[in-house]
Amino acid sequence: MTAKKDHKKASYQLQADGIIKNFKKRGMDGIFCATSAQAVEEICRMVPAGSLVGLGGSETIMETGLLDALRRMDIRLLDRYKDGISKEEVDAMRRQGLSADVFICSSNAITGDGKLVNIDGTGNRVAALIFGPKKVIVIAGMNKVASNLETAIARVKNTAAPANSIRVGVETPCSHVGFCQDPHCHLPQRICCQLVITEASMTPGRITIVLVGEPLGY
Ligand code: SF4
Repeated sequence: MTAKKDHKKASYQLQADGIIKNFKKRGMDGIFCATSAQAVEEICRMVPAGSLVGLGGSETIMETGLLDALRRMDIRLLDRYKDGISKEEVDAMRRQGLSADVFICSSNAITGDGKLVNIDGTGNRVAALIFGPKKVIVIAGMNKVASNLETAIARVKNTAAPANSIRVGVETPCSHVGFCQDPHCHLPQRICCQLVITEASMTPGRITIVLVGEPLGY
């Protein structure tokens, strides 16, 4: 069992090394952390005290313990996950997040050649990824890596979206069969409305991707 885990870790490290080089060519920074705990520590170090911090909807942010760590920091966290929050408050935070100092989210998929692939419903996460916040930090488990763009999009549609539909309780066609059923998927249930492929960052270093050597999120 240990040997199998070590092989997996070694393959994650190899993939991450190549992807981080490819991020650099695309004006983005990348680091690899073997564990969630290391990733949380690195990310907290990147967030300046007092800054306004927005969050994209993400299982990974919760699963890694990053949300709890951010809550303990001396920052102005737009905490869309706090108990008792109303839909109106979440909407207001989504808008504020577009001009935050730091925006933290995950990515639905990452290609071997260093592109970020994301599909959003509301679109606030991809909007912030594109423009607005001065700094964007993306945290993603190595399970999000896909060899190319085609497999990345297929991953989002056939792995992430069905699981996310079930998580948020929307009756999308994929929530019933586990695979995308587009074009037979319509509003108001449809959660795939914006497909954004981040090929590069015009502002070098604005986006930092923290790759984690663990399966995280969907
Ligand atoms: S388009 Fe619809 S069926 Fe396809 S993955 Fe998205 S929500 Fe699911």
